Amino acid sequence: MYAKVIVDITHEKLDRVFEYRIPAELEGALKVGMEVIAPFGLGNREISGYIVDICENCEYEANKIKAILRPAEKRNSIEIKLIELAAWMKEHYGGTMIQALKTVLPIKKEERMKVKRYVRLLLSEKEGKEKLEEYLKKNQKARVRVLAALLDNNVLEYEFVIHKLNVTRTVLRALEEQGVARIESEQVFRNPIKNREQNWQPIAYTGEQQNAIDIFREDYLQGLHKTYLLYGVTGSGKTEVYMEMIARVVRDGKQAIVLIPEIALTYQTVMRFYKRFGDRISILNSRMSNGERYDQMMRAKEGAIDVMIGPRSALFTPFPNLGLIVIDEEHEPTYKSEQIPRYHARETAIARAELEGASVVLGSATPSLEAFYRAGTGEYKLLTLRNRSQKQELPSVYTVDLREELKSGNRSIISRQLHELIQDRLDKKQQIILFINRRGYAGFISCRSCGYVAKCPHCDVSLTSHRGGKLVCHYCGYEMPEYQTCPECGSKHIGGFRAGTQQIEELVKKEFPEARVLRMDMDTTKEKDGHEKILETFANEEADILIGTQMIVKGHDFPNVTLVGILAADLSLYADDYRAGERTFQLLTQAAGRAGRGKAKGEVVIQTYSPEHYAIETAAGQDYESFYQEEAAYRRLMGYPPVEQLMAILAAGEDEELLEKACGYLKTYAERVNKLQIRIIGPTSPYVGKVNDVYRRVIYLKHKDYNALTGMKDKLEQYIEVNPGFAKLRIQFDFNPMNIF
Ligand code: ADP
Ligand code: ZN
Ligand code: ZN
Repeated sequence: MYAKVIVDITHEKLDRVFEYRIPAELEGALKVGMEVIAPFGLGNREISGYIVDICENCEYEANKIKAILRPAEKRNSIEIKLIELAAWMKEHYGGTMIQALKTVLPIKKEERMKVKRYVRLLLSEKEGKEKLEEYLKKNQKARVRVLAALLDNNVLEYEFVIHKLNVTRTVLRALEEQGVARIESEQVFRNPIKNREQNWQPIAYTGEQQNAIDIFREDYLQGLHKTYLLYGVTGSGKTEVYMEMIARVVRDGKQAIVLIPEIALTYQTVMRFYKRFGDRISILNSRMSNGERYDQMMRAKEGAIDVMIGPRSALFTPFPNLGLIVIDEEHEPTYKSEQIPRYHARETAIARAELEGASVVLGSATPSLEAFYRAGTGEYKLLTLRNRSQKQELPSVYTVDLREELKSGNRSIISRQLHELIQDRLDKKQQIILFINRRGYAGFISCRSCGYVAKCPHCDVSLTSHRGGKLVCHYCGYEMPEYQTCPECGSKHIGGFRAGTQQIEELVKKEFPEARVLRMDMDTTKEKDGHEKILETFANEEADILIGTQMIVKGHDFPNVTLVGILAADLSLYADDYRAGERTFQLLTQAAGRAGRGKAKGEVVIQTYSPEHYAIETAAGQDYESFYQEEAAYRRLMGYPPVEQLMAILAAGEDEELLEKACGYLKTYAERVNKLQIRIIGPTSPYVGKVNDVYRRVIYLKHKDYNALTGMKDKLEQYIEVNPGFAKLRIQFDFNPMNIF
């Protein structure tokens, strides 16, 4: 047997593995993920490494392969746990072990940490003075300068010695050789949060908060490590509950990870954690350099911090004694990675917690279908906060039917009711948010007169308009010619929806010339900090109306906003995607939650072409549970996740003919080895069938049991590996994808 070993992961880049022979006496004892000692290099220096794969054949010349010496002794380092997690990810999401390892292990890059060096005196005071006499006699001025300074101060900064004392490196080396002084280095980890005051006052929890905290504490004290779903409306005090739970595990010398979507990772949020935990917290974000991220990971490993806050990748913080993982806004799609391995942070957090004996708390006001479904089956424990912590009223929500507006001759995207309310708020000097729902694809076709939307008769997802006048289903490949008139009402107003943020800004400025208007979208936030600047201007009440896409609906408190207008609630509803209803409900609820955060009560106007759609109706009623019932019934009926499991095989390549053929072979092979009645759909063209001359195809596989799909994935991965025809294509697996491709 042979083993593939990654050597010395903390020092080398993880770009290659070495093959070793497994000696007969160790066969069976060595497993993937174990740390072993092996000879390395010309001198056969003993190094440690991790086994990432075990196989019967070797790729390298067999007679030149060295043998593993023995398992390493210290066997419980944090890396081993993370490597086990990588093995789990490879198994669940596909890809190679190296790709999984690169995801979970903090990797040292060239621009790594700043190293601070010191010069330390090694002699006693008496010896030092004698040595100083000697240097003075020999007129060795540089040595005199260093030694005199060291006699005053036993440790000096290296930079100070070189630059201020004007001493060369050669002189220092000579002092080292004579045993007078030693140069020491200390890794300095940059601390992104510092010099702030830590002042935290305990608060009186509400009954609901206390109940959630107590349930967690009782389980924890009994050594039960579970997954909890903290389901609570915005403003119900979830963050306070997380912090109390974190404090509980930190008191026992354990650490906690808090995942927050990057967009909600604001200064305000971080400061709340800082106030409670002081500089025992650290943060990660995408604006940090690799070196800075690495520093923070090392601070965690060395025990310098207790709490790491960050987006998805913070999940892999190498804490030595992890006690709790919190995932705030667990329903956010950014928790799913779009790179191999295409892992979901929620599932991976639960896997890591199981490996390390930690608990997981998922929090949301609008839980993902997955999470609420699992809370229903008892897999997660449900903790509910029904009321806002300070009893603020929820806003009033009105739904406006845009078809009626058109009928009464109003062709503007701003309804009469919304227009009136905007004017009212401008008069009262209160603020307004106009939210344009541009999530999902704009490719769907709808009728502006009756709201009809073209859907696939087989999949119940929207058809997408392609060039050449075709409507296509990206899920099953169904095609039909584009409509000239609406099949329901005969209107000519059928087509794609085109109003963007810019057009809306112009319109608003025209209709309300006295208003100060801000726009936030991809264009206005391109420059660094553009996002924060706009939010700050608005928070300082230097503008009356903020117009924006989904960027504006998350995590910000604007107490003077008393009106939220949602201009086209439907746009996200007809993305060609089985999650469209869920996404729409979440966006509308979040947007509505922006109104009336302060003392005055808020109002929300939802403008839509389909007021009778359950996602819109239940969002208007701010009724998550009714939404969930409807949505779960739809998923069950159509066999979509979380009721059934879905695996997408994504294939891409420059040669369209080869791609077509390869997908055909894949499908035929999958059908041949299909013992568990997995449903196989496709191959079809995804939404963007060709990017930069690279063609793409997708095959979907469906089954009730996740393991049936990973079993099939393993077979397909082997099939792809042994058939050289696939070498020119890139093939990836995506489990329960966040959208249909
Ligand atoms: P969520 O995370 O559910 O949106 P937060 O934890 O951010 O809610 O709480 C919303 C606001 O209410 C915050 O300003 C928070 O400090 C405050 N708050 C939360 N719980 C309490 C409480 N028990 N007493 C007083 N204020 C509270
Ligand atoms: Zn119509
Ligand atoms: Zn279809």
